[in-house]
Order: sequence, then C-alpha cells, then structure tokens
Amino acid sequence: MRRKLIVGNWKMNGNRVANAALLAAIQSGLDQAACDVAVCVPAPYLAQCQAALADGPIAWGAQDLSAQESGAYTGEVAAAMLSDFACAFVIIGHSERRAYHAESDELVAQKTRRALSAGLTPIVCVGETLAERESGQTSAIVGRQVDAVLAAIDASDLDKLVIAYEPVWAIGTGKTATPQMAQDVHALVRARLAEKSVDAAAKVRILYGGSMKPDNARQLLAMPDIDGGLIGGAALKATDFLAIIQSA
Ligand code: 13P
Repeated sequence: MRRKLIVGNWKMNGNRVANAALLAAIQSGLDQAACDVAVCVPAPYLAQCQAALADGPIAWGAQDLSAQESGAYTGEVAAAMLSDFACAFVIIGHSERRAYHAESDELVAQKTRRALSAGLTPIVCVGETLAERESGQTSAIVGRQVDAVLAAIDASDLDKLVIAYEPVWAIGTGKTATPQMAQDVHALVRARLAEKSVDAAAKVRILYGGSMKPDNARQLLAMPDIDGGLIGGAALKATDFLAIIQSA
C-alpha cells in the first residue's frame, strides 16, 4: 500500500515573516497526519525551513537543482547544497521551468539522475498542455516525458522516484482534471514504469497537481493510482493545505 504524500509547491512566493507564520500554522494544525507531508520552498528559505521543521513530521525540499555537480555555473544550486540543508525532496521539470526556462526532457532526466545520486527524492513533473490534450496527444506527451527519465536512471533507483502528473491547463487556472481524467493518465504512467519493473511501479507515488483544493482533493485522492498531491496556490494558506492533508 502506498502512503499518500501531500507536497506544497510554494513557487516564487513568501518572505521570512510570512513563511514563519505559515509553517507554524501548518505544524500546529497537523496533529496525526495519516499521510506524508512536505513543502518545497524557494532555495533562500531552505535554512529557515530546516530550523523550523527539524525533528517534526513535515519534510522540506527545493523546486529545482542543477544537473551539474559543482563549478562555474552562476546562479545554479547543486544537489549537494540541498542535501546540506537536509532536503528530502526536489521538484524537477515543473511545467513552469519547462516553459520559461526551456528545460528539455533530457535536462529533466539529467537533473533526476543528479538528485538520486545525492540521495534526494526527485518529484518529476509531467503533463500536457491544453493544445496537446485537445489534439489527442496526452498519452504520447506524458509517455515521452516519463520515458526520458526512465532511460536515464538505474533500474534500482526506479522505486525512489515520485512522479507528479500536472496537466498544464489545470495549473493556477482553477480548472481541475476530473478524477477519472487524472486517474487515466496516472494509470498510463504506472504502466510505463511497470515496463521496467512491476514491483517498483507498484511502489512509486504518482501525485496529481493542478488546482487541487479542499473541495476537490478527496475525490481525486480516492482514485486508485492517485497517491497524493502537488499543491500550488492552496499550499500558501494553512487552512487549505491542512484541509487537503486531511482528505488524504
Ligand atoms: P496550483 O495548485 O496553483 O494549480 O499549482 C499546481 C502546481 O503547479 C504545483 O506544482
């Protein structure tokens, strides 16, 4: 049985004062979560998260990392630096990075390998645009994105992945995939993983992301292959984030 995982992706939001209040509110409302919980925050706030969350049930992580190990890569953040701040997770290949920073499937795959080699759990994001869905390409696009990662990692690392299915048209738009639409893509992703290893595929958590809110989380999270959520806007409000955690 896969334990559900709810991850807040704060994106480029927050400041020290607001973060302290948000983290405190989440921690105090969390009593006995029946699922795993994490927040992925802007890199400058990792130390703040570590100080606030150490020894508690909430894990933390980053929203990106460099594919390179170290060196002359101005502005980049290395996997080892994330480990230095005790990150458990790192989001890789979010659609905003694919769209605004031209991240290719190959780069996403290299970053995934880098994260795994540093002992971080990659949350690899995949998903189709509206035009791709409307032209019937969802399976082809998502399949291609997953395959690029699978081709780059050792089979023994497969069960260390987390995948997030985030239909681009549902991110920040208030439009959510119906539970069945999401389930269909999650099943497709798991089938793709199972081509490598049936055992590992059964262990990998596949999160849904895209306008997940307290009022739709329960139905989405009830689907057999939806193992959690990657939450944007609703992760910035403690009551909403906690309500989603409670639905898991
Ligand atoms: P929203 O929940 O704001 O739609 O964002 C989803 C997302 O992109 C999480 O990574």
